[in-house]
Amino acid sequence: MTSRTPCIGGNWKMNTRLEEALSLARSIGEGVASIEASVDVVLFPPLPWITGVAEVLSGSSVSLGGQDVSPHGEGPFTGQISAGMLLDAGCTHVLVGHSERRHGLDETNTLLNDKVLAALEAGLQVMLCIGETLEEREAGKTGQIISTQVEECLSGVDQGSISRMTIAYEPVWAIGTGRTAEPTDAQDVHAQVRTQLADLYDASIAQEMRILYGGSMKPDNAGELLQQTDIDGGLIGGASLHSDKFLSIINASTTQGSAQ
Ligand code: PEP
Repeated sequence: MTSRTPCIGGNWKMNTRLEEALSLARSIGEGVASIEASVDVVLFPPLPWITGVAEVLSGSSVSLGGQDVSPHGEGPFTGQISAGMLLDAGCTHVLVGHSERRHGLDETNTLLNDKVLAALEAGLQVMLCIGETLEEREAGKTGQIISTQVEECLSGVDQGSISRMTIAYEPVWAIGTGRTAEPTDAQDVHAQVRTQLADLYDASIAQEMRILYGGSMKPDNAGELLQQTDIDGGLIGGASLHSDKFLSIINASTTQGSAQ
C-alpha cells in the first residue's frame, strides 16, 4: 500500500492584520521545525502578507499558497492575481474552488477548471476544494455532486500534472460551523474520490494522490478523522489562526495519518 505523507493546510481567509500574521507564521514555523515526522504544511495567508510571511518562514519547511488565482495570465482584470504573480510573491501552492468562492461568489466548475489549468501551467501546486451543500446532502446527492466537481474541475489535467494536485473534500455545511462530518461519512466520500481518480487516471496515481478533509477540523476531532484510510490530512480554517491548535492538528496527522 502507498504511504502518503500527510498534508495540513491553514487557510487564514480574510483574517489577521500584518503584525498578527507575522507572529502567527513565526510560531507555526517554529512548531513545525520541532516535528520530526514527515508532514507537508502549507499556509494560505491573505495575499498582502505573503512576502512578509515568506520572509519569516525562510529556511522553514512550511510552504505558502494563494487563496485564489485568476484563470488569466495577464491583462485588464482589475483585482485579479495571476499564477505567475503568486509564484513571484513566494507561493508554491494555490487554493482553487473554496466554497466561500464556489458558493459565495458563484464560481462554476468551468471557471474553476480554467483556474486549475492556469495554475498548473504556471508551475503551481493546486489544492482543489470540492464539497456538497447541506441541501444536496439531505437530498442524497453527495456522491453525484462530488463526482461532477472532480470530473469537471480536472478536465484537461493530464497525467504529467496531476501529481501537483491535492483534493480537499470540504462539506460546505461543515465549514466554519463547528459541525464536522462523521469520520466514516467523510471516509466514504474520500474513497469514492480515490476510485474516481483511478478511473480518470490510473490506480497508482489514485493511490498516491492526497485527499484532505476540511470542515471544522479541531484538535479534539482531528485524530478520528485523520485515522481514516483515505483521509490524508486536513484543510483548516478557524483553528489555523491559533498556532497551538494548528500545531496540535499537524501532530495528529503524523501519528494518525497514512504515513504512520
Ligand atoms: C476552510 O476554510 O477551508 C475550513 C475548513 O474552515 P473551518 O476549519 O473553519 O471549518
